[in-house]
Amino acid sequence: MAKIILEKSKCIGCGSCQVLCPKFFEIKDSKAHLKGSQTKSDNEEMETAEIDDCVKEAASACPMECIRIEN
Ligand code: SF4
Repeated sequence: MAKIILEKSKCIGCGSCQVLCPKFFEIKDSKAHLKGSQTKSDNEEMETAEIDDCVKEAASACPMECIRIEN
């Protein structure tokens, strides 16, 4: 299993992740939201069998480096 982690406190709501990967990310109240995730303290986390390519693209494009992938 792999994990997608969104560090919401660092997010500036630029919208790049939503544009690149709308299947997983959306902007809500000026912050990114990881669809279907659980909130753990300040972060949103989601386990997935495989990391979709668009999540990797969103992580690379995020100007605040708040999208992390753990394998
Ligand atoms: S790309 Fe990064 S900073 Fe921009 S909205 Fe998404 S998570 Fe937030």
